[in-house]
Amino acid sequence: MSPHRFRVAVCGGGVGGLVCAVALSRYHDIHIDVYEAASAFTEIGAGIGVWPRAWKVLCSLGLADELAKIAVVPPTDIPQIAFHFRKGDQPEGVNFYTLSTPGGLLAFHRADFHGVLLRHLGRHCGKHTSKRLVSYTQSRSRDPSIRLDFQDGSSATCDVLIGADGVKSAARACLVEELAAVARAEGRHQDAQKVLAAGPPKWSGTVAYRALFPSQTLRQRLPSHRVLENPMLYLGKNSEITVYPIQRGAMINLAAFRARYDLEYTTFKGPWMQDVPPSEVLHDFDNWEPEVRMLLQSAERVNRWAIHTTLPLPSFVSGKVALLGDSAHAMMPYQGAGAGQAIEDAFILATVLGDRRTTQSTISRALRVYDSIRRPFALRIQEASRENGILYTLNYPGLTFDRPACAQPGSEDAEKLKEIRTRIRMNWEWAWKTTLDGDVSRALRQLDDPAYGS
Ligand SMILES: Cc1cc2nc3c(=O)[nH]c(=O)nc-3n(C[C@H](O)[C@H](O)[C@H](O)COP(=O)(O)OP(=O)(O)OC[C@H]3O[C@@H](n4cnc5c(N)ncnc54)[C@H](O)[C@@H]3O)c2cc1C
Repeated sequence: MSPHRFRVAVCGGGVGGLVCAVALSRYHDIHIDVYEAASAFTEIGAGIGVWPRAWKVLCSLGLADELAKIAVVPPTDIPQIAFHFRKGDQPEGVNFYTLSTPGGLLAFHRADFHGVLLRHLGRHCGKHTSKRLVSYTQSRSRDPSIRLDFQDGSSATCDVLIGADGVKSAARACLVEELAAVARAEGRHQDAQKVLAAGPPKWSGTVAYRALFPSQTLRQRLPSHRVLENPMLYLGKNSEITVYPIQRGAMINLAAFRARYDLEYTTFKGPWMQDVPPSEVLHDFDNWEPEVRMLLQSAERVNRWAIHTTLPLPSFVSGKVALLGDSAHAMMPYQGAGAGQAIEDAFILATVLGDRRTTQSTISRALRVYDSIRRPFALRIQEASRENGILYTLNYPGLTFDRPACAQPGSEDAEKLKEIRTRIRMNWEWAWKTTLDGDVSRALRQLDDPAYGS
């Protein structure tokens, strides 16, 4: 007889997949396999920011000490400046808000963050690289296992599949087919069409230019540049730049966004990620203030990312398969929340699966509980992130600018900027004012609720 209660396969070894595997590693009677498409467990991209709500989850997994060592600024509960907001698309920018939150935004270098997660995977966790999931099959027959088929022609089986394979998720594509088949079988043909249409990722109409460069390069240009000490958001019409120091101030992480809302949900032509000449981004921001152009001139290598998101699904779960992170709810990066939401998904999933009441025969119930807790919340954050982007790019109805803003207190421009900052803060407060604790308790209570079936 197997010593394990059941076997979980996590497809995708990004932030969400690894946090899920770390959280599941606490339950020694659950066997875990992580299947990663790439040839190594690595993270591309530069910086990643974590808000207090997700940070507390990482702490409860015993990661606080190691992560604290690699954070730009050591974690604290004391109010910290998360970002200074400045309107930068004019000859001389206007500072209009300093967002200060308990603990601020904890910034990490992505590869360092990933390294800590990898070191915390349990010994009973199998790690498989170069395993790109192509599809899965769950039969409703007597054999309860799920078959996984990989691109290299190999296959594997598991009792629970967690699709943590990012925005281009193969697990999501299969799950959507299953949800549509159920809808068709119940005569809900329109629902079937709708869910199928929501399956593939959609281009947001926005591209992000991402760069990482030594602080020294910027210091040589302007020793007093505010970004050397301060995390900044520069706002402008149809564009926004998020920039902050990482690696204890040694490097600067920059993401410059350019939005075309008229192209939202169309198909992006070309590769989703591509190295581009730094002159391309400079050209896009050539009418911005000198300190912004100085930042862009410091970047020697620039990647352009076409930001894709997903449309809401009626469920993140089908039978014994669950989606988490970007495969479930890829969102705009304007609240620095995508990874945090993946971390929350991972923790709730591991909590309901790890609970002693969950056995081979009640896996589906545990996943339905996960869905009922996480889907509404994550979709709300997805929408709030989109709305923050509209505010940052000065596209919010009634809050747009067609000429340089004047900072004169009481002026119409100053009132608009005030309204923008109020809305940004209200949309975002969940990240530092709330915790996951209530949702964890609710999930554990719901495991006994007959409404979630067997
Ligand atoms: C510019 C930008 C800045 C951002 N900044 C922040 C931030 O500061 N804070 C924050 O919280 N979020 C941020 N995000 C969002 C965040 O990066 C994502 O939400 C997060 O990485 C999602 O994690 P994930 O594990 O779901 O997916 P991913 O990180 O995409 O990981 C998916 C993994 O699955 C693997 N994979 C893919 N397909 C398959 C397959 N078929 N089979 C097996 N493996 C597969 C991939 O190789 C990858 O390792 C930002 C996003 C962008 C674009």
